[in-house]
Amino acid sequence: MKKLLVANWKMNLSPVEEIRLFDDIGGAIEKKKKDFGNLEIVLCPSFLTLVQSGRSAKRTESLSLGAQDCFWEDRGAFTGEISAFDLKKIGVDFVIIGHSERRQHLKETNNMVHQKVKAALKAGLYPIICVGETFEERQEGRKDYVVIQQVFNALEGIKPDKKDKIIIAYEPVWVIGSGQAVDPKEAEYTNRVIRQAVIDSFPFDFATHNVRFLYGGSIDEKNVEGFIEQKTIDGFLVGGASLKAKSFLAIAEKMS
Ligand code: PEP
Repeated sequence: MKKLLVANWKMNLSPVEEIRLFDDIGGAIEKKKKDFGNLEIVLCPSFLTLVQSGRSAKRTESLSLGAQDCFWEDRGAFTGEISAFDLKKIGVDFVIIGHSERRQHLKETNNMVHQKVKAALKAGLYPIICVGETFEERQEGRKDYVVIQQVFNALEGIKPDKKDKIIIAYEPVWVIGSGQAVDPKEAEYTNRVIRQAVIDSFPFDFATHNVRFLYGGSIDEKNVEGFIEQKTIDGFLVGGASLKAKSFLAIAEKMS
């Protein structure tokens, strides 16, 4: 499986800025596509520009489109929600689910995350499931337990198909947007804990061939190398450093 680099732009940019950034990154990747052959790059703009970005993404082989969230029903009276089913139709392939900002500000529970993961897989999307402990949970010594529970809850009872792909992103909540990533060895350790939870949830072949494990939390072009060296980290989910083409492409170059 290719290494994965995912940009999460959150609500940080205007639609005009998003389209410009999408084209800047897409254009640069297209020009150097041989260099990025071992890398799958996913850009996750806001819902507002997904349709337009989808048209640009089609022109760039090594660039895929991701959404920042989805709803668990295909259609119906759910004001303000967006279905996984419709995202797939407009050219989206990946969807971030259970980001800590949604868990924190929108009170998304493990059960909601689970429903969304099921809906994403049913629609043919690749879910990027975010897990990670808060600072308090860490201080209480519950980090591994919290993360394992989040993984088990998200995947509970799911019988994956061979064509499905699942991504788990370990994102320590207290590190996101702080400018200070965790020690790469610690990310590696927690990814191993997560990998075990995935192996315990799925048939071994699926767990080892169809699931990728990312780290996210203040990754930038200066600190990414220490994480690339770690065996179990298959890529990164990047927030702040994905908002400038130069820094995001510098991360991609270091990974390729
Ligand atoms: C994120 O929010 O998923 C994230 C990793 O953000 P940052 O890179 O800014 O810490």
